Amino acid sequence: MAKKRLLWQLYLPYLIITILALVLSSWYASYSFRWFYYDEIAQNLESRSWLAGRQILPAVNQKNFDEVDQLCKLLGQTAGIRLTMILPDGRVVGDSDQQPAKMENHADRPEFRRAMNGQTGRSVRFSDTLGKNMMYIAVPLKEQEQTIAVVRGSLSVIAVDKALNDIYAKIAWGVIGAAICAAGVTLVVSRKITRPIEQMKDAAKRFAAGQLDHRVPVPDSEELAELAGALNETADRLKRTIETITNQKNQLEAILSSMAEGVIAVDSDGRVMSINKKAALLLEIDVVSATGHSIEEVIRNVDIQRFMRYTLMSSAPTEEDITLSAEPPVSLRARGTYLTDHQGNKSGAVIVLSDMTRMQRLENIRRDFVANVSHELRTPITSIKGFVETLLDGAINEPEQAQRFLKIIAGHTDRLMAIIEDLLSLSRLEEDGQTRMIAREHLKIRPVLESAVELSGPKAGDKKIKIEIDCDDDLEALINPTLLEQAVLNLVDNAIKYSPAESTIQIIARKDDKDVTIVVKDSGCGIEKSHLSRLFERFYVVDKARTRKLGGTGLGLAIVKHITNLHGGKVSVESTPGQGSTFTIHLPIK
Ligand code: ADP
Repeated sequence: MAKKRLLWQLYLPYLIITILALVLSSWYASYSFRWFYYDEIAQNLESRSWLAGRQILPAVNQKNFDEVDQLCKLLGQTAGIRLTMILPDGRVVGDSDQQPAKMENHADRPEFRRAMNGQTGRSVRFSDTLGKNMMYIAVPLKEQEQTIAVVRGSLSVIAVDKALNDIYAKIAWGVIGAAICAAGVTLVVSRKITRPIEQMKDAAKRFAAGQLDHRVPVPDSEELAELAGALNETADRLKRTIETITNQKNQLEAILSSMAEGVIAVDSDGRVMSINKKAALLLEIDVVSATGHSIEEVIRNVDIQRFMRYTLMSSAPTEEDITLSAEPPVSLRARGTYLTDHQGNKSGAVIVLSDMTRMQRLENIRRDFVANVSHELRTPITSIKGFVETLLDGAINEPEQAQRFLKIIAGHTDRLMAIIEDLLSLSRLEEDGQTRMIAREHLKIRPVLESAVELSGPKAGDKKIKIEIDCDDDLEALINPTLLEQAVLNLVDNAIKYSPAESTIQIIARKDDKDVTIVVKDSGCGIEKSHLSRLFERFYVVDKARTRKLGGTGLGLAIVKHITNLHGGKVSVESTPGQGSTFTIHLPIK
């Protein structure tokens, strides 16, 4: 149903009441006025009729009706009224204006009947005889308590009515004027009352639309002022509450988005309420489009779907290890717990996904490392122990044998030394790395490369391998020369080890916008692609027997990686089995 405006609801009844009151009071005033006038006339008429009647009465008593009629005509003219003399039976015996003989019986006239009851009869009506509005006053003429006749005086009320009508017209104009004024004043008053209410209505609409800085003007009236105050205070509180909630939400979002763990919250129907960046990254979903959709629509991994449903149903925290089939696979530890609303009812669940892939890889590396160190140390020690025992058992007395065994023992001790030295330099590098204490200077690269080539000279000479250096004399980089020399030496050593005799090894140093690169390129046996990702791990060797035969420890490349890391750079490898390998050290310019 269409609602009416408060202004009209107030204004129209006011206006109607005001006009009604005006009309009624003016009607009552004119009515009273008319009767006041009529009363005046009536009293006047009565006294004149009575006086005239009294003078005519002797003629009535003598039944001299001609005289009666003449007197009526005379006195009527003198008094300026119409005089009629009526006998108790209603017969008219004298009339100032008419011939009594022609006049009908007046017994039924109301004023006559009233006079016959002993009172003064009064009537205002239209006279058929005269054809106009007349006032009639009938006065009983008594003698010894006996009504002898009734004298009736009558007067035209046209003049009175005309005067009254003039007055009525004036009153009507007055009423119309007053009504117009009342309409204006009522409108102003109604507006004054409804205006603050409309302002509050507008303010409430604005508040609902979120414009909480708007304020309602405080009106004069006490009740409305309180209401406006209450509205303003409510808006103020709402604003503060919303600010607090927004701040908390922003904080929460900042925390969630900076978390290393993935977080997904769902409602009790399993619809995603929020999801942070990491979870979106792990599960390959879009944060914006995921919100509001069910987990089955959003998350492809069935294990996570099942875990979420299980957490939603469970009344205790949940935990499970889940592997995502990606390349490489991602190991996740999922922890979940249900959420409750303000009444303590279950309202959803939140799960936290921790990426355990790196941890697991590190754990594997650590385990492998310990196993490898033990294994690598154990092999030479077992041999040494065996040969020492053989010597003790008597072989020492056979000089030739003893010498051969001691040479083997010396070879193993060298290997032990090599391993221990490599391990020590690795741990030293790690320590320096942690304390960031390595000293670097802007130095020329070429001397470093030349010194590494010189150190590996004997080994290269044994296999008649040529080593070429292609490097600008002026090429500089921010380096620690000793460490860089060791890294290049390790790469050149490997290149010599795994290259055929009489081949060539190239060392190329270049500078581009970002890096200074040092490339060590051989045309040796190369490395299978499957090994490349783990090549720089400690003790990682492609072919154990071969490496051992060549005196390798599996630590050389790990050392190279550490040294480049300490320079803020990285090392990479490209290799084609049977064709050769290319190792590149990247040193950033800045
Ligand atoms: P090692 O001391 O055994 O050389 P590294 O860490 O230096 O240990 O090398 C690890 C493995 O990488 C080696 O066992 C070898 O199989 C492979 N490798 C390293 N450099 C080369 C190369 N230039 N050509 C072919 N294989 C290589």
